[in-house]
Amino acid sequence: MSSDIDSILRSPKAYIWAQKAIEAMETHRVWPTALNFELWLHYVAAKDSNVAAEIHTVLQSGAPFTDQVGEKIAAQHLPAVKLSGEILDAGKSLSDELDSVHRAIESARETSEAYGQQLATASQSLEDQDTDAVRSMVESLSVATRKVREENQALESQLADTTDELGRLREHLEQVRRDAMTDALTNLANRKAFDETLERTCVQAETKGVPSTLAIVDIDHFKLFNDTWGHQTGDQVIRYVASVIGRVASGARFSARYGGEEFAVIFPGENSAAALAAMEVAREEISSRVLKRRSTNEDLGAITISTGIAEFKTGDTPAGLLERADGALYASKRSGRNRTSLADLGSESTRAA
Ligand code: C2E
Repeated sequence: MSSDIDSILRSPKAYIWAQKAIEAMETHRVWPTALNFELWLHYVAAKDSNVAAEIHTVLQSGAPFTDQVGEKIAAQHLPAVKLSGEILDAGKSLSDELDSVHRAIESARETSEAYGQQLATASQSLEDQDTDAVRSMVESLSVATRKVREENQALESQLADTTDELGRLREHLEQVRRDAMTDALTNLANRKAFDETLERTCVQAETKGVPSTLAIVDIDHFKLFNDTWGHQTGDQVIRYVASVIGRVASGARFSARYGGEEFAVIFPGENSAAALAAMEVAREEISSRVLKRRSTNEDLGAITISTGIAEFKTGDTPAGLLERADGALYASKRSGRNRTSLADLGSESTRAA
């Protein structure tokens, strides 16, 4: 469940929102499942959310809100739901596979134990047996040997199948792990991956004494833009800004979607002057492109970004570095937007359009 909804459910109005969600579900004849409840809670209590926008679109289309519709919206906008399902599926396949290997090994072990016992008995009684008895013993040993060989062949082929299946599972889990670190809309890293990378970068900057810098970017007047042109076009603008930021943040640099219309770039091993130059390239590229509304070909007007940059200082924590970059971002906003500001030991320098 998203943290916004989490805080709504812990607010004094929690029961009112919950009741409204259930009423809305009843009105629109939606089954009261846990997943539908979570989605409809977004609809009534977080009207600006992507989930609310998707539900609104479904209602406007007049189509029924079926479980499949709900699952599709959840898979797109509540990644945790999709993720936990996929991890459970992968875990179940892995455990089934290991069970079958275990069973095959156990059966081979039992057969080979019985064979060993047969060999021991045979060798002991061979010494004082007549020819017929020896012949019958050799026959029974040959039957037992064939059985062991067949079991071994079956085990080998099962192990080969299992190796293939484990390879497929490993790839699938790797994909799930990548998805868990990726923002679905922009394909940039998500907030979780960003938090981990920032933590690592700060540790390295502190221990190795290399410079490192953080930039936080916000799309100017995005809410107004979204309200004017709709969520779908808003999403495309987010994708566009992400694509420019992703290009600027190539190599060792790391870019992420930090929140709704906010992005972050980490520059390991680079100082604030290098980060400023890179972010100015992004700002100029974004502000000089005329975007079109795909459905009508109308001009969408100028899209601009504001950026705040902070360089790591000895003793900085990730939260402290973020706070200084955020402070510089707000300096960019205050001084007119479409600019990049540096947080520099308390003073801020700004490069504007
Ligand atoms: P997308 O629509 O999936 O496009 C991916 C890439 O395909 C674009 O990357 C661009 O290199 C190319 N492309 C797609 N459509 C066109 C086109 O009509 N003309 C040209 N010359 N190239 C095209 P790019 O430019 O980095 O854009 C990334 C994403 O940003 C796009 O994904 C789209 O979601 C959004 N976007 C970019 N420009 C516009 C625009 O003018 N209007 C809208 N609504 N969205 C845009």
